Amino acid sequence: MAKIEPMDFIWMDGKLVPWQEAMIHITTHSVLYGITPFEGIRIYKCSDGRSAIFRLNSHIYRLFNTAKITGIIKIPFTRLEIEQAVIETVQKNKLEEGYIRPLVLIGVAGIGPLPDDNSPIQVAIIPCRFGHYLGGGALERGIRVKISKWRRDDRVLPWHAKLAGHYINAALAKKEAKESGYDEGLVLDSRGCPIEGSAENLFIVKDGELLTPGLDKPILAGITRNSVIRLARNKGITVKDDATILKDDLYDADEAFFCGTAAEITPIRVVAEEDKYGEIEEVPIGSVCPGATTKKLQELFFKAVRGEIAEYQKEWLTYIEI
Ligand code: PMP
Repeated sequence: MAKIEPMDFIWMDGKLVPWQEAMIHITTHSVLYGITPFEGIRIYKCSDGRSAIFRLNSHIYRLFNTAKITGIIKIPFTRLEIEQAVIETVQKNKLEEGYIRPLVLIGVAGIGPLPDDNSPIQVAIIPCRFGHYLGGGALERGIRVKISKWRRDDRVLPWHAKLAGHYINAALAKKEAKESGYDEGLVLDSRGCPIEGSAENLFIVKDGELLTPGLDKPILAGITRNSVIRLARNKGITVKDDATILKDDLYDADEAFFCGTAAEITPIRVVAEEDKYGEIEEVPIGSVCPGATTKKLQELFFKAVRGEIAEYQKEWLTYIEI
């Protein structure tokens, strides 16, 4: 787990405050019930020495969409104001490379999961330094994942929304994997189809084609997922982005990888599943890890985030003067 080291400032409710003073009250509704829209955004140091926030407006758009999906929260700022606040937070903390966590809290609102319409809404933006989410060597050598018994059933929660409360499911899936000696959990939908990692989207490669579960499934519409799809299609790789992936498709895949803001593009080396007797069966994915397509996509992705591909620069990168 990446530690959060204190930085100079956190943006809260319209202004930057010293890190130690960014406090909320213990009776904050979001603490009591977890209805907390948030985002995770990376800032990269580009090859030309400048720093750039990756896909800032897509992340802030999704933050507002998450609030809208709940039907409970109206963010008391515009999207542009929050984008500007993220930029200011990065600048004032001199965060040349790292991670930014905007979050929206329902303030003090009383007991009961559904707050009143006029409950206070608080917004914060936390900057932090950030390295390799799934550990050193994960990008180069791939990870071992375990299929979780915790599922993502579309009738339980609005999985398209990025809400803190959803991450109880993610934490349980990851804990289960870690306890058995694996790096990450892989979750199934209610029909038993692999759909996501604990906090990553899933792709497989089969016969040169890229497949990923569709947005009709209980997954997050990942911004890295979208970037991978666009990078692949632009290079002539066929992408099926509305796939239903069965467990056997995953086991038979030539390659598989997870992607996400934190995980970037992390190859999957082994998938393991525990049967009802507690026996774990491991299936290696493909013959080499990372496979050629995954490697190519990693290369393209890191070029794009570091400003080395002109056609994505303007749309995907917000350069920051630090
Ligand atoms: N699925 C889930 C459940 C996640 O938490 C994340 C991380 N935000 C992703 C997918 C990947 O999304 P993104 O690429 O936008 O970070």
